[in-house]
Amino acid sequence: MSRTLYKLASFAKPEYIKEAKLYRNLKNMSPMQIEKLEKKRLRTLLIHANKYSAYYNNLFKENYIDLNAKDIYKEYKKIPFLTKEIIRENQNQILSVHEAKGRYANFSSGSTGEPIKIYQDDYYKNKVRATSNFFDTMANTKPGDKTMVLWGADKEIDKYESSLKVRIMSKIKRLKYLNCWKLDDLIMEKYVEEINNFKPIHILGYAEALNEISKYIIENNIKVNTPKSIISSAGMLDLKMRENIEKAFNRKVFNRYGSREVGGIAIECELHDGLHISTFSNYLEIVDENGIEASPGEIGEIVLTSLNNFSFPLIRYRVGDFGKEKNGVCPCGNPFPLLSTLEGRTSDYLVTSNKLKIRIPTSIFSQIPEIEKYQIIQNELRKINISILINSKEANDSESLEILKEKIKVVVEEFSENSFDVEVNFTKFIKPTSSGKHRYIINNILS
Ligand SMILES: [Zn+2]
Repeated sequence: MSRTLYKLASFAKPEYIKEAKLYRNLKNMSPMQIEKLEKKRLRTLLIHANKYSAYYNNLFKENYIDLNAKDIYKEYKKIPFLTKEIIRENQNQILSVHEAKGRYANFSSGSTGEPIKIYQDDYYKNKVRATSNFFDTMANTKPGDKTMVLWGADKEIDKYESSLKVRIMSKIKRLKYLNCWKLDDLIMEKYVEEINNFKPIHILGYAEALNEISKYIIENNIKVNTPKSIISSAGMLDLKMRENIEKAFNRKVFNRYGSREVGGIAIECELHDGLHISTFSNYLEIVDENGIEASPGEIGEIVLTSLNNFSFPLIRYRVGDFGKEKNGVCPCGNPFPLLSTLEGRTSDYLVTSNKLKIRIPTSIFSQIPEIEKYQIIQNELRKINISILINSKEANDSESLEILKEKIKVVVEEFSENSFDVEVNFTKFIKPTSSGKHRYIINNILS
C-alpha cells in the first residue's frame, strides 16, 4: 500500500518515466550506445545554451565554437572552464531566457567559501530523481523502502523540522531524518535506539555522521539492526570510516558522489572497486593543473557538465573536487565508466614560503592507525597546526602521545620537504562545516 502511494505521490512525470526506463535498459546498452546518447545530450545542451543564455552565447562566439561540427567534443574542449567566481559575477547572464516549468534557486554545497546560487527546474528535478533512484537500485534498495537519513544541518533537515507537509510526505515516502550536524554520546544513544525501533531497510547518511554513529556503536558494543543497504554521501569516505561503518552495521557501504549543483554523479557497484559515473546526467572530465585531460590513473580536478539543466547551464564547471579515472570495463556488467577514487577538495592545499602549493591527500596519515581524524590548519606561511582525534582504544598515556606526535611530524615533514614547523595537538572534537562535513585542511592564507 505505502509503496503504491509513494509512486503516486512522486513519479507521475513523463521525463521521469522516460529516464527511469533508460536506466532500466542500461545493461543492454553498449558503451558506444551510451556515448552516442551522451554526445547527443551534450550537443543539445550547447545549442540551447548558445540560444538562450547570453553568457554562453558570448563565450562561444569569442572562442569560435562550431556547434555543427561533427566532432562536438573537440569544440567542447575549447570552451573555457566555469568557476564559482564566474557564476557569482555572471548570474543573470548565465540564466536561460527560455520558459521553464517550476524553476527554483538552489545553492552549492561546497565545504569552502560562500555558496553559489544557481537555478534548476522541473525537467532537471525529474531527471535527477531517476538517476538517484537508479543509484539506489545499484546499492540494493528501491524507492519506497523504509529509509533512515542521517543528514547534516542542511536545507532538507530544516524543511523536515519546520514543515508539517514535508513531514507527512516523508512519512508517505517512508523516510525518517536524523539531524546529525552535532553529535554527542547522548544524542547518539537516542539515535541508535531510533534506528533499532524504526528498523530501516536502507540507511543513507553523511559519511561523517555514519562514521560517528558507527564509532559509538562499536565502542559501546551495541547490537544494531542491520539494514539491507547503506549509502554514504556528502563528504569523503576514507578507508577508516568505511571500516567503522561496515563493522558497526555489518553491511557493506556504497560510496556515492554527488553535488547540489548537478545532482547524483557516481556510485559504487557491488564490487566496491570504483564509482560508476552516470553519463546520462553528467559529462565528467578530469584535467591536470594546465587544464588538459589527465591520463587515466592520474589525479586531476573534476570538471562537470550537467546534461539536464537547461535553465542554468553548467558547462565545464570546476566543482572543486579531485579524482582519478579508472581504465577498462567493470566486471559487474554496468557499462558506465569508472571513477577510481575521490581525492579531496581542490582547496586542500598548503602554501610554502616560496608560494608553492602542496596538495595534501586525505589519506596522508593512513599509515598511522591511532589517528581517527585530523584537521590541518595553516594561518602562516611557515607554520601549520594539526588537530588530531585519536582512536580511543589506543594507548593515550603521555609517552605514547609523544611518540605519536613525532610520527605525525615525520610524515608531514617528508611530504612537504620540511617546508613547515609542525605543531600537533590532541583534541576530542573537530568542528564540522555548517553543512555538516569534515574539512581536512583549512587554509587561511589561500582564502
Ligand atoms: Zn561495476
